[in-house]
Amino acid sequence: MERKPFIAGNWKMNMTAESGAALIKELAPLVKDADCDVALCVPAILIPAMTEAAKDSNIAIGAQNMHWEPKGAYTGEISADMLKEYGVKYVIIGHSERRQYFGETDETVNKRTRAVLAAGMTPIMCVGETLEEREGGLTEKVLAKQLETDLAGVEDVTKVVIAYEPVWAIGTGRTATDEQAQETIAFIRKKIGELFCPKCAEKVVIQYGGSMNAGNCKGLMAQPDIDGGLIGGASLKTDFATIVNYNK
Ligand code: PEP
Repeated sequence: MERKPFIAGNWKMNMTAESGAALIKELAPLVKDADCDVALCVPAILIPAMTEAAKDSNIAIGAQNMHWEPKGAYTGEISADMLKEYGVKYVIIGHSERRQYFGETDETVNKRTRAVLAAGMTPIMCVGETLEEREGGLTEKVLAKQLETDLAGVEDVTKVVIAYEPVWAIGTGRTATDEQAQETIAFIRKKIGELFCPKCAEKVVIQYGGSMNAGNCKGLMAQPDIDGGLIGGASLKTDFATIVNYNK
């Protein structure tokens, strides 16, 4: 089963309209011949300017979160219509920083994921274990519980991109080994097969995220179950283009 690789950047709370547009202008010619899908998930306020900066390129602009209600009294939140107005295609949901610092739970991740799908966009739904959980031998148990709850009620799982991001590897410079990432992502695919159907699981794009960079991307991307990357720090510089061109 052919899955199209997908490399997405997560700018987190970095960049301004000026510095972001300058980076996109630098990246655009470097990634134009990419064989994979390419996106940059930017802070919500930068979406209009980054959409404009990326308009003649193959870089899609994504968001970093979205609320499940269409509108209402939810101060600080962003709705599907607000994102769609600017042609946003991808929305990161359930990033570990949202779970760790902003009270995101599997239940809210599930609501957000279903709302993104209902709005016709693609959720990049993040799952991953902490260091304590990995060292305690709980990785599979934790991931199984996250997948069961986060994907509950999803009709077509093939429309979801999963990002496997071990929390201990995010922003720490400590990457999962190629084997650790492959083994865990293969488990995630198997679990999706059990929750939905094995054929659907074969179609789901699963990214690895956690200190992926220009040096380690080739090895990670060579693994049979790893279909892409969700890139934090390295997406703030032209290294992102090297990752996008991992197969060149
Ligand atoms: C991320 O933010 O999703 C991420 C993987 O960050 P970093 O690449 O900096 O570890």
